[in-house]
Amino acid sequence: MKCTYCKSDLKKGSTTLTFQMDPNQIVVVRDVPAWICEQCGEESVDMSVSKKVEKQVEKALSDGIRMGFIDFNHAA
Ligand SMILES: [Zn+2]
Repeated sequence: MKCTYCKSDLKKGSTTLTFQMDPNQIVVVRDVPAWICEQCGEESVDMSVSKKVEKQVEKALSDGIRMGFIDFNHAA
């Protein structure tokens, strides 16, 4: 995979994604698998991964979490 910006090679890594629904509701997802550009630091997340993240955020919200950290569940 190549970086969309600088066309350098992307390296497998992990990132942290922040979802802010409103000023009082923030969910941070840690350890999300991502492709990271060694050149410019651009991070990209696979579509299948971002779908999983969305589901996990939705679940956290339905569990009543208003502000907090969740760890990406690789098995989900
Ligand atoms: Zn780049």
